[in-house]
Amino acid sequence: MKKKLILAVLAISLFMTGCASVNITITKPDKAESEKESVLSKGIPWIDSELKENLSEDMPVDPKDDFHLYANKEWLLDSEIPSGYKAWSHYTERGLEVKKQCMDLLKKDDLTGHDAELIQTYNDLILDWDARNASQVSEIQDLYDAVSAADDIEDITAFLTDSATSDMLFSFFNYSACIGFNDPEKYIVGVDTPSLLLGDSAEYPERTELGDMYYGYDKDMFIYISGKLGEEKSQAEEKFDSAIELETKLAEKIYTTKEQKEDDYFDRINNEMPFEEVTELAEVFPLGEILTSSGYEYPGMYLVTRPDYFELLDEVYTDENLDGIKNLMLVKYLLGYQQVLDRETYERSIEAKNEYFGTSGSLSDEEMAYNMVSSMLPASMQKVYISEYGSEEDKKKMYDLCQEVIDTYREMLSENQWASDEVRNYAIEKLDKMKIHAAYPDKFRDTSGIDIKGCSLLEARERIIRTEEEYSKSLIGTSKDKDMWAEGFDILSCNAFYDLQENTINMIIGMMGEPFFSSEMGTEELYASIGAFWVGHEISHAFDSNGAQFDAEGKFRDWWTEEDRAEFDRRVSKMDDYLDKIVAFDDKHFIGKNIDTEMVADMTGLQCALRMASKVDGFDYDRFFRKYAQMNASLSVYSYELSTLTQDEHPLDYSRTNVPVQQFEEFYATYDVKGGDNMYLAPEERLVIW
Ligand SMILES: [Zn+2]
Repeated sequence: MKKKLILAVLAISLFMTGCASVNITITKPDKAESEKESVLSKGIPWIDSELKENLSEDMPVDPKDDFHLYANKEWLLDSEIPSGYKAWSHYTERGLEVKKQCMDLLKKDDLTGHDAELIQTYNDLILDWDARNASQVSEIQDLYDAVSAADDIEDITAFLTDSATSDMLFSFFNYSACIGFNDPEKYIVGVDTPSLLLGDSAEYPERTELGDMYYGYDKDMFIYISGKLGEEKSQAEEKFDSAIELETKLAEKIYTTKEQKEDDYFDRINNEMPFEEVTELAEVFPLGEILTSSGYEYPGMYLVTRPDYFELLDEVYTDENLDGIKNLMLVKYLLGYQQVLDRETYERSIEAKNEYFGTSGSLSDEEMAYNMVSSMLPASMQKVYISEYGSEEDKKKMYDLCQEVIDTYREMLSENQWASDEVRNYAIEKLDKMKIHAAYPDKFRDTSGIDIKGCSLLEARERIIRTEEEYSKSLIGTSKDKDMWAEGFDILSCNAFYDLQENTINMIIGMMGEPFFSSEMGTEELYASIGAFWVGHEISHAFDSNGAQFDAEGKFRDWWTEEDRAEFDRRVSKMDDYLDKIVAFDDKHFIGKNIDTEMVADMTGLQCALRMASKVDGFDYDRFFRKYAQMNASLSVYSYELSTLTQDEHPLDYSRTNVPVQQFEEFYATYDVKGGDNMYLAPEERLVIW
């Protein structure tokens, strides 16, 4: 399976959007009282209350020492991570509410229209276990055997340049239509490095605990599925390890998670060139042939994220490495099918996930099916949902709230003390040009060409993949249709995002429900939620270290003066130093550099909401801060916590309460926080960025 250029990095979103998988064996800190005291006294300000093992009924709470725990202890103790989930929070809870509405739509008799028929047909195919059990692995055997039988590298090239097979096989790089950095109006072709079995390329030279989890899970599943195709266990083990060995070579020229979060990352991946130059990047690997045969040759520009990856691929793509090459293709091929084969395979994948990632139980079949429908047919699912639950009134209300927050931001920016007039004025211009996208778009892509009538599940899946491929090709060289702003994003998830290349904030229908948005919310709750948490947070991404590299039109262009940038960097690195000191569990520290853009967004959002609050007579700050903390309440299994801590740009949730609130005088005044309290930061140590 292939090709989704990972320029999703450009849509900086508020929460983790479906971190691929997850976690495991519990080695978290002991929650005995004595341990807890030592944790607090070591200068680690707060316990990681997302790990339930760290909590107990008799634990004292005090807003001066751990505000997140104070505001959420009851919820944390009363809540459980549901069967099949790796984490639980108000986001997942709200997400589930929308999912349930969708699951009802997938069963509803009286829906009409092509999109409703599509999603219901696909859903029925997923849930038709009899048919799935009957076909077993017969539909994937032929291609598996054919790749296994390849005699030389030319046979491999034949698979990768034949449209009958290339869409279904791993092709050693990703390519698709994408919006480049230099012209945000037009689709070009993106050529990117592939995703890796162990996720982060840093896992290859030295594997971590998290890498071990992915390795164990993937290896077990490959052995299991290939066993159904007649592979001996020992043979399968060897094949898997040889695939990892080949990936270890490729990983040398694939950016690590850490590199992807560095400030110069966009600069490094912004390499545009015409087709002739792309083909010259590889002499041995058939880069040009693959692009041509799959319909990706055109007269415009290509964005090649890592040109030197193809030099490396030239060295690797040889007959000497034929076994590794075949094995990697076989492993990727089979792992792509683990959710769509028979019941036994599906259940084996749940067991393995629970074993390696420490989750428990499984989702209901209906929820599993919905997840698959919404990821394969997102536009159809969204259209049907909106025709049933969309509200123009709520959309308007959200739009107006966004405008109110933007207006407050303008005041904040104009009063900023440290930026030059030039940068401050441009920031305000960028803010004024920022577009608001509320709830859902009026326009979606055309889905009329997808036809899965009479297909088996695997045939339907293949048709959808091929249609997606055709759609991607049809975009190349065309202008972006900005009315279709939900493209590539699941607007039914509980999330929000800022789009750097469009300069838009997107407050989607998935987050528009309790406890984040409702017509009954009081001013304090509304300001904590929409003011700080959602809209204020997203706007700030236009002005963080990523946003600073894109102008008001979404073009990749630095609009900062050197002095202003130096001052901004000084402020952010002070925050990084502070975050680096926080220990989450065991000896695992926060990684300031990974999470600073999100922490800046949280802090600036809160700053904005407090400014809104200052204009309200009798504003109840206690109510406001508690609501703010409550929205961050979450529980995770250990593996998910570990993955968030090391891979994600979002800080752990408990710190998303405690770090932002301790920057503001209103918090100190409300709870009488003083020197010596764990929540206290001396005025000169506070980290306000804007
Ligand atoms: Zn964010």
